[in-house]
Amino acid sequence: MGPGVAGECVYKCGHHIAEDHFIVETINPETGEVLEPGQEGELVFTSLTKEAFPVIRFRTKDISRITQEPCQCGRTTARMRKVVGRTDDMLIIRGVNVFPSQIESVLMDIEGIGPHYIINIHKRNYLDELEVVVELTREDLLEPYSKLEDFTAYIRQKLHNVLSINVRLKIVQPGTLERSSGKAKRVFDYRNSQVE
Ligand SMILES: [Zn+2]
Repeated sequence: MGPGVAGECVYKCGHHIAEDHFIVETINPETGEVLEPGQEGELVFTSLTKEAFPVIRFRTKDISRITQEPCQCGRTTARMRKVVGRTDDMLIIRGVNVFPSQIESVLMDIEGIGPHYIINIHKRNYLDELEVVVELTREDLLEPYSKLEDFTAYIRQKLHNVLSINVRLKIVQPGTLERSSGKAKRVFDYRNSQVE
């Protein structure tokens, strides 16, 4: 729908939706259920003033939240918060929505691991299990072993803070993970190919 749907004000606390032209909703991308303001879901737009190409409940595939609270700037229109991911990329791990982009942003902020990572999803004892594989770039963390254990626990905690699920973490030597040109395949979901 291009520009004009929403815009940021000087307070930069979400994009104000042009509600005189668009109705915004958030839905559960799995069920289509309409969510309450503040709940995270897929953004859906309906145009009110377009005549040639009306857009009715257009699913954006963007996952975000809508807030109805008045903004400091005085505007009272709904605001959409940061887009946290795309429904295409969304993984459902034990009923929790997880986006690879969330995992990536956590890993990027951690000093001592490289920029490459892989996400493996398995089913074990009927439960989804998320494993993140990263490369260690700081040799000083190898000895003694407790240092590496502490580092592993630290990364797992950081991931848990953002994802609200426990993650298995595997730390490998630099250069272990495959480099690919173009868009790297980072997510490997084995859940449907495994026999219980
Ligand atoms: Zn504002």
